[in-house]
Parts: sequence; structure tokens; C-alpha cells
Amino acid sequence: EAKRQQQVWRWHAAGDVSARARQLGLLSGLESAADSAQLEMWLQPKLELASGQMRSVEALVRWRHPDWGYVAPSEFIPFAEQTGHIGIVTHAMLEQALSTLGRWKLTHPLLSIAVNVSTLDIRDTALPTRIAGMAARHGAPLDMLKLEITESGLMSHADAVMPVLRALCELGVKLSIDDFGTGYSSLSYLHRLPVSELKIDRSFVTQADGAPEAAALLGTIIELGHSLQLRVVAEGVERPEEHSLLQRLRCDEIQGYLIAKPMPLVDFERRLAAM
Ligand code: C2E
Ligand code: CA
Ligand code: CA
Ligand code: CA
Repeated sequence: EAKRQQQVWRWHAAGDVSARARQLGLLSGLESAADSAQLEMWLQPKLELASGQMRSVEALVRWRHPDWGYVAPSEFIPFAEQTGHIGIVTHAMLEQALSTLGRWKLTHPLLSIAVNVSTLDIRDTALPTRIAGMAARHGAPLDMLKLEITESGLMSHADAVMPVLRALCELGVKLSIDDFGTGYSSLSYLHRLPVSELKIDRSFVTQADGAPEAAALLGTIIELGHSLQLRVVAEGVERPEEHSLLQRLRCDEIQGYLIAKPMPLVDFERRLAAM
């Protein structure tokens, strides 16, 4: 038995090593991936409940790897953040988002794009100027750009991020708190942040379906957002029951597989053209 256990352990350890090797392989290829357009911007729409219209889409990165096919963000984003390489992804997504907004200015002027940025990005005091430069190059309206920043990221470096957030705000860029409810916000800090939107973490939506206490909690979070004059978005909506609950709770926008899965830009634009 001891021997068998040891074998099992070895096998697991070997698995970890190869997972690590793959991560390292991915990481060393990140820069050239960006250069050769392998970091694709996929889009997932959000639905505004009051109007039934699409006002905003979220940009989600997909790495089209020459050997491994599509690699999910969960496989390289956390690692890229830990090793300080996340800026490569952020830059690639901002370039594609702003170039798209530059094109949509005439065809879909009211549709905004939300790009995910990490804590590391928003501690970089050069970020606002860089974004302004990219927007100018693409002729993109900055007020149609939104940045999603996780709640935990905002809370853990409060002092360092505040000047950057303010500068972004002055440019007209909208800010959204991602994964809200999981990052232990200090409420006194929350109301001082120059953000305009709060995205409720998927876990609250999933739990609320069928459980009265959890539904009440979801309602309370939505009210909290509204009392702070924020737009409230719920993510991870998969079931029609969740959609109607969120409608009853006066959530502003919903996003999730029930509405649409993330899709390549060309597919999204095809759907836009058919609308
Ligand atoms: P997130 O920002 O919270 O994004 C939402 C994730 O939930 C996405 O996964 C999306 O595809 C997925 N999702 C959307 N609707 C549903 C649903 O109804 N059910 C379920 N189960 N999932 C749903 P994805 O694209 O794999 O991204 C995972 C995470 O990776 C993101 O979480 C975000 O933290 C990070 N990420 C993705 N793209 C980027 C990026 O360009 N930059 C940075 N810094 N992070 C990114
Ligand atoms: Ca997000
Ligand atoms: Ca989220
Ligand atoms: Ca998340």
C-alpha cells in the first residue's frame, strides 16, 4: 500500500511539473504572442434590463496558441500577474478595444467596451497617459472605454491606485469594480472611489436561485450599489429564473451564458450587423 501511495504521489508530482513547464512555456511566449496577434479579444455582451438593449460588452482575452490551440485566461493570467508580465496582455487588449471603438464611433456610438485590468496595471502612474495616446491614435472616444478592476485589487493598494483612478476618470474612462462581494471592501473607502459601476460576483447569482436568504443578500448588494449611485451589473447569469429574479431586484444589467457566451470580434460584429 505504501508503495502504491508513493507511485500515486510521484504521478501527481510529475503532473505538477509538467503543468509548471507548460506555464513557463506559455509565459516565455507571451511577448511574441502579442506581437503575432495570438492574444485575441473576444467579446461578451451585457443586457440592460430596463431597455432590453445592449449597452456594453466585456473584452476577454483568448490566446490562440500555435501548438496548444486556445488557451483559457485562467491558465496564464494569474501566472502573468505574479511574474509581472500582465502588462503585455493589458496592452494587447487595450489596443484592440480602442481600435474597435474607433471604428464603432460611426456605426455603434453608444456601445462601450470593458477591458479587464489587474492591480499591477492600475498602480502604474503612466497608464492614463498611455491610454490617452492609444485612443488618440485610433480616434477612439475615451468615454466608451470601461476598465474592470477586481475589488480585492482596489482594496489591497488603496493609496497607490487612487491617483491613477482619478486621472483615468478625468479622461472620461469609466471604472467598474469586478467580482464585487469577494474582496472585503471597506464601505468608507468604497464611497470615495471614482467608480461608476459595480459587478456582482457570479457566486452571489448562483446561490440566490432558490434560496431566499441568498436572494435577499443579492437584493441588499444591489441596493448598496444604487445608494452609492453606481450602476449594478450581475455576472454569470445562466438560468431564466436568475434573469427574472435580477429584474425584480432592479439590477441594471446582466451578463452570462443565458444572454451569450464570449465570442470572437468578427462573430460579434456579424451579430451586430444582423440586429
Ligand atoms: P472575470 O473578469 O470575472 O470574467 C468573467 C468570466 O466568467 C469569464 O471567464 C467569462 O467567460 C465567464 N462567464 C461569463 N458568463 C458566464 C456564465 O454564465 N457562467 C459561467 N460559469 N461563466 C461565465 P474567462 O473568459 O475564462 O476569464 C476568466 C478570468 O480571467 C476573468 O474573470 C478575468 O479575471 C481574467 N481575464 C480574462 N480576460 C482578461 C484580460 O484581458 N485581462 C486580465 N487582466 N484578466 C482577464
Ligand atoms: Ca471582468
Ligand atoms: Ca467578474
Ligand atoms: Ca471572476
